Amino acid sequence: MSIDLAAEWLRSARKIVVFTGAGMSAESGISTFRDQEGLWQHFRPEEFGTWTGLTRMFLAHPERAADFLYALLEPIAGAKPNAGHLAIAALERHARVTVVTQNIDNLHQEAGSTLVHEVHGSLFEIVTQDGRFVRCVSRQEMASIATALGRIRHGRCVLPRTLVAIRPIAGIGIHGRYRPGVVLFGDAMAEPAWGDSVDAVCHCDCLIQVGCSNAVYPAATLPREAKAAGAKVIAVNPEKGEADVWLRGTASDLLPKLLEAAFGSP
Ligand code: NAD
Repeated sequence: MSIDLAAEWLRSARKIVVFTGAGMSAESGISTFRDQEGLWQHFRPEEFGTWTGLTRMFLAHPERAADFLYALLEPIAGAKPNAGHLAIAALERHARVTVVTQNIDNLHQEAGSTLVHEVHGSLFEIVTQDGRFVRCVSRQEMASIATALGRIRHGRCVLPRTLVAIRPIAGIGIHGRYRPGVVLFGDAMAEPAWGDSVDAVCHCDCLIQVGCSNAVYPAATLPREAKAAGAKVIAVNPEKGEADVWLRGTASDLLPKLLEAAFGSP
């Protein structure tokens, strides 16, 4: 069975990369952007997926911009690691594990993974426009912002009230402009996370990709790089993708089963 073959590869691997996309956190209540109820069904990425587009939207249609921010922040602010995140953290007991994630939700770190490269940045790390670190934001602070946005977005004076509500994560301060350190369309990948990820992928024995459509570049090139360097590639996804073994199903169901098949404990 394919899970047994994947388990055998995990047992014999010294270095494992777990490469995760939006599907990894779907069962934590954060929809992927491209699925039926995903963000891009309600907000066009051309308008909301770049910093210039977002700024324009704020000035021209502040209620739409507030709606977008609420839709983005509210699920992430309330999310907890699922059984899949916990299984990936537990894998560290058996091998050297590097997590390379496209997600911005901090759930791998919360689950206990110790080496996490966030190639699309983090919603919880506030940076200046030129990428200098300003501060970290807690999930609780994010939840307060989401609650405030939920009240404001259908009321009056949306623009000034939204600007006040999001002040902990975006605005102008003593360092100049600041905002969450996330990678939007057209931005460069987050560094040093991206360079470190390419390095980890080229030196691993096995790569498990979880919840990745591989439609977002250049992140999508990583499984192919791993394969070219001689690693086995396992995919965990309800939808078929490119891999040596495809485990068809969800992250929170299959990752604990894979760990159990490999090491006898979930
Ligand atoms: P994506 O390209 O990462 O694809 C999502 C994949 O997840 C699909 O292949 C889908 O079949 C699979 N999937 C859905 N439910 C799953 C489950 N329960 N278990 C395993 N796989 C599952 O998706 P996208 O939404 O277009 O994301 C684009 C980018 O947007 C991401 O790379 C990320 O940077 C960002 N994003 C981040 C988050 C987050 O931080 N949680 C959420 C959505 C999007």
